[in-house]
Amino acid sequence: MRALYPGSFDPLTNGHLDLIERASDLFGEVIVAVLSNPSKQPAFSVDQRIAQIQASTEHLNGIEVISFDGLTVNCAVTHRADLILRGLRAMSDFEYELQIAHTNRSLAEQLETVFLATSARHSFLSSSVVKEVARFGGSIDHMVPSEVAKDLMRLFNSAFSPPRHE
Ligand code: ADP
Repeated sequence: MRALYPGSFDPLTNGHLDLIERASDLFGEVIVAVLSNPSKQPAFSVDQRIAQIQASTEHLNGIEVISFDGLTVNCAVTHRADLILRGLRAMSDFEYELQIAHTNRSLAEQLETVFLATSARHSFLSSSVVKEVARFGGSIDHMVPSEVAKDLMRLFNSAFSPPRHE
């Protein structure tokens, strides 16, 4: 089976990666679809996010990383996905995710949305929390794959350099 895993992935966290690994075991093929949303100001470009995900999933078979805009269901149909995969961290995710799943089903009845509960050890992780910690110089090595950690350090490094006195 082929699962489409859509999201912003700005950036990929260990929680996302854990979900991709488990979905790869369950479904065989996983298309990770990076949303290109011009109305959001992302920390990383779509190309950077795709490169981060490709590097972090090299050890897995059956993973494809693409970008998309517009409706998720259109992307799923175009790529002949059997299902849409989303992760659930806590009750707070549930209401929004259920609404999206119902909406998608009303647009494409044949497409099921499958939810995987996130691993407990990653359930506190979100891309925005990771960026916040990195911005203020905290350690993020246990939160994101090493490729992402490097990019985050590069992104926020200038903010920590002591001011130069010429
Ligand atoms: P979006 O902007 O679409 O919510 P995200 O990149 O934040 O994009 O999330 C994409 C998917 O990954 C969502 O289904 C989300 O619930 C799931 N997800 C987010 N954080 C984690 C995590 N820590 N563990 C597992 N899944 C997660």
